[in-house]
Amino acid sequence: MTKKVDITGQLTPDSTPHNAAPNMSTEQSSAAEHEQQNLELALWASQEAIWHWRPLCDTFAITRFKLDRSKDKFNGSRADFIQSIHPDDLSLVEQQLGQHMQNIDGVINVAFRFYHKERWRWLRMRGQANERDSAGMALQVVGTIRDISEQQEQLSRLDHLARYDALTGLLNRRTLLSELQKWAASGAPFCLVFVDLDGFKLLNDTLGHVQGDAYLQSVADTLRRELPKTALIARYGGDEFVCAFHFTADSWQQQVARLVEVRTPFNFNSASMQLKVTGSLGVALFPEHTSNIDELLEFADCAMYQAKEAGKDGYALYQAELYIAKKRKVTMLSELRTAVQQQTLKFELQPKFNALSQMTGAELLCRWYSDTFGQVSPAIFIPLLEEHGLAEALALLALNQAADYLDQLLREAKPVLMAVNISAELITKSGFLDKAAAIFDLRGLDKSWIELEITESVFLQEAKKAEMALQQLRSAGFRVAMDDFGTGYSSLSYISRYQFDTIKIDQSFIQDMLQHQKSRLLVEGIVSICRTLGVNVVAEGVETEQQFQFLKSLGVQRFQGFYLAKPQLFSDIQQQLTHNCAASADNKVSESK
Ligand code: C2E
Ligand code: CA
Ligand code: CA
Repeated sequence: MTKKVDITGQLTPDSTPHNAAPNMSTEQSSAAEHEQQNLELALWASQEAIWHWRPLCDTFAITRFKLDRSKDKFNGSRADFIQSIHPDDLSLVEQQLGQHMQNIDGVINVAFRFYHKERWRWLRMRGQANERDSAGMALQVVGTIRDISEQQEQLSRLDHLARYDALTGLLNRRTLLSELQKWAASGAPFCLVFVDLDGFKLLNDTLGHVQGDAYLQSVADTLRRELPKTALIARYGGDEFVCAFHFTADSWQQQVARLVEVRTPFNFNSASMQLKVTGSLGVALFPEHTSNIDELLEFADCAMYQAKEAGKDGYALYQAELYIAKKRKVTMLSELRTAVQQQTLKFELQPKFNALSQMTGAELLCRWYSDTFGQVSPAIFIPLLEEHGLAEALALLALNQAADYLDQLLREAKPVLMAVNISAELITKSGFLDKAAAIFDLRGLDKSWIELEITESVFLQEAKKAEMALQQLRSAGFRVAMDDFGTGYSSLSYISRYQFDTIKIDQSFIQDMLQHQKSRLLVEGIVSICRTLGVNVVAEGVETEQQFQFLKSLGVQRFQGFYLAKPQLFSDIQQQLTHNCAASADNKVSESK
């Protein structure tokens, strides 16, 4: 029985009783009825509907079975059915139906959107002709239809999760990269901006993650608002964003300037909490700077660091020289890390002498040979180590080395005072003193053969803490020297204020003192105060006979410098000490403590 088909393709209920087919015995008809019932139940359970299409008489029917044995039916023409299909999916469905008319081997298997009960639903239609004429044209096509809307929604939710950042709804890193590749393939110039928030971590730690997340969302909103609709905007990492937009001529500058101008929304100012968040922006241009996307991102990232170094809260454009310098630094740091881990750093010793030119001590100086950079000066690699948290590892290596050398010299009965350079900030680091002391205690070595050389910086930054640390080092048995004295902001009063065993006058004054009165007066002042207070003085960087004589005339007792000896291998020091034995016997005693 046929029903009028509504234009939306809505299935209309059918109340037709399930009559048995005519001309059947009662037994036969009840068996067929039973089979039909099973089929309907199975179709209900699998949530499939049945469809029939008879091309010659142009009828198209869909029947869905319910548990109570009633049915939802759609009866109409092919055109009626087609009318409710989403325009974007129409050609696909038409193509499959059309092809199947003549294609004997194929099946129909197509998913499409269908307007039903005032909403679009995703349907999957499968089927095959079960009757063809002698020319192979389909006379009847039968199959099932299933509503797959839920699966499709789930898929699109998953797809969204895979493509977008869950917190901000911006593109995620992966999607950004693939979109940028497409942009690069098209060749049109675009501007890439790397945005990193300054001070966000503090906001997050102080106000908590909920506020932190809300703040990141507001930054995302700002970027969406301020950039063209066609721009790519992505959350790249925790508080890092990357944007890209096309430009003509120099218009990128206006756009970036605009971002910088509206950075106020990046700025989070809390008067009560002293929290300030700003944005540092790095800019790189495609294809002007590079047409490789990975490199472009690296360039913009590097420019962002430039913006940070220039004081944050602003933007910087990529500069090749700075990038190369940074790359060099990164390579150097990574090699240096390996050298520290694998303990391939070497040490030389520079002797210290008394006024009779007898060796009384030696300073341990670190040496690093890099495969890429060759011999690197400690003036370059030591600050790099310190910047990246490797100062303690180096100090422990140096102390172990000093312990080995001292052990040998003690066994040979020719010990000298071993000076070890220690990064200043380490002395206030908790646990450092114990580790340092253990190196000597475990070997039963007397720590008063070891003099730790530290610079004044730590006394300027945290005077009280440093003073306590200094006392603890000395109580543990180490001797402590203030290195490079006179170079920083320390004044002569430091000599009396802090309990150093030794003051090392910086080499710049020694090299200058015979030419410049100011330096000479300073050297004289230090020597005189130290003599009064009973503190040892070492003049370092003695390069000439005149300097040596002048210092002796002032009453200086310890000397170090190229004039007397350069840094050298331990074996050379050992040899010299053999000839110097008489002096070494009273070395430690002669250093007034
Ligand atoms: P420093 O502690 O002031 O070491 C003295 C530096 O002056 C050494 O340079 C030494 O070779 C150099 N020197 C010695 N006599 C003369 C001289 O007469 N004239 C001139 N022009 N220079 C002289 P080096 O070995 O290049 O070390 C530089 C700095 O690196 C050291 O300065 C020290 O601050 C640091 N350093 C070296 N080894 C270590 C280490 O194991 N640990 C730490 N933390 N720092 C180290
Ligand atoms: Ca030193
Ligand atoms: Ca020094």
